[in-house]
Amino acid sequence: MAQGRIVKALSGFYYVENEDGIFQCRGRGNFRKRKITPLVGDTVEFEAENKTDGYVLEVMERKNELIRPPIANVEQAILVFSTEEPSFSSLLLDKFLVHVEANDIEPVICLSKIDLLDEVKEAEIQRAEKIYQKLGYEVVNTSIYLEETIETLRPYLKDRVSVFAGQSGVGKSSLLNALRPELNLETKPISKSLGRGKHTTRHVELIPVESGYVADTPGFSSLDFHGIEAEELSYCFPEMRSRVNDCKFRGCTHINEPSCSVREAVKEGEIADFRYEHYSQFFEEIKSQKRRY
Ligand code: GDP
Ligand code: ZN
Repeated sequence: MAQGRIVKALSGFYYVENEDGIFQCRGRGNFRKRKITPLVGDTVEFEAENKTDGYVLEVMERKNELIRPPIANVEQAILVFSTEEPSFSSLLLDKFLVHVEANDIEPVICLSKIDLLDEVKEAEIQRAEKIYQKLGYEVVNTSIYLEETIETLRPYLKDRVSVFAGQSGVGKSSLLNALRPELNLETKPISKSLGRGKHTTRHVELIPVESGYVADTPGFSSLDFHGIEAEELSYCFPEMRSRVNDCKFRGCTHINEPSCSVREAVKEGEIADFRYEHYSQFFEEIKSQKRRY
C-alpha cells in the first residue's frame, strides 16, 4: 500500500501523486456506502496495480474541506486584491479573511496591479497595509509587469497547498501565469471577466508550483458565511480574539453588552473603526440568515 495526494478528479478517476509519479486510480473502499467522497487535496492510501494505475482504498483525516470549489486540506490562501481595476475594498478583504480564519487557513494578502498606482493611491494602500500587518497578516505587493514582485510571492508557495482567492478580474490567473509561464491560463480583460459563468464548469486541479501545490480554480467562490456562527465571528478577527477574555460577560457578542473590552479598544483607537464596523455588519448578516431558515 502506498500514500499519495489526489491532485485531480475527473470522470470517475482520481489522479494520485506521490514520489513515484501520478497514478490514475478508481475508488475501491465502499466510499459511497460510507458517505465519503474523495476530494482533490485528500491524502489517500492506494494500491498501485502497475506504474500508472491503481485503486484508492482509504481517505486520511482532513484538516479542512472547502465546498466551493470542493478541495480538501488547503493550508494557505493567497487573497488577491487589486489596488486598482477593480479598486481595493477593505470590506471584501475582511469578508475573505473571516472565511479563511473560519477554515483554519493561513492567509497571505496579495495587493496586485501596483503598477497602476499613483502617489496618492499608493499612500492610501500603504496605510491599509500597515493595519493588516499589525494584525499579524503577511502582505505582499505584486504586479505582473514587475518581475521582482513576483519573486516576493514565490517563497510563500513552498511546500504547502495554496488556493488563490479574490474577485474576478483582480489578476489571479495572471499571477499564476507569471509564476509558471508554461501554465498558460486564460486571462480576461476586466470588462469581459465580470460576466457570468466563468468558473462554472471548471474542475479543480492541483498544480505543482515551488515544491508546493496551487489549486488552478479560485477558492472561496461563495462568501455567504455558511457554517459560521455569529457567536464565533469574533474569533475570526485576531484583534478581537485576543481580547474576548477581558469582556465582562462570557459569550459577549461585542455589540451592546456593557464593559466590553472590544468596544473599549475601538474607542481607544486600538482596534480600527472600519474593522469593527465590518464585524458588526457580518454579525448582522449571519443573524438575519439564521432568521430566514
Ligand atoms: P482573474 O479573474 O483574477 O484571474 O484576473 P485575470 O488574471 O484574468 O486578469 C484580469 C485583467 O487584469 C487582465 O486584463 C490582466 O491583463 C489584468 N492584469 C492582471 N495583473 C495585472 C497587473 O499586475 N497589472 C496590470 N496593469 N494589469 C493586470
Ligand atoms: Zn465584548
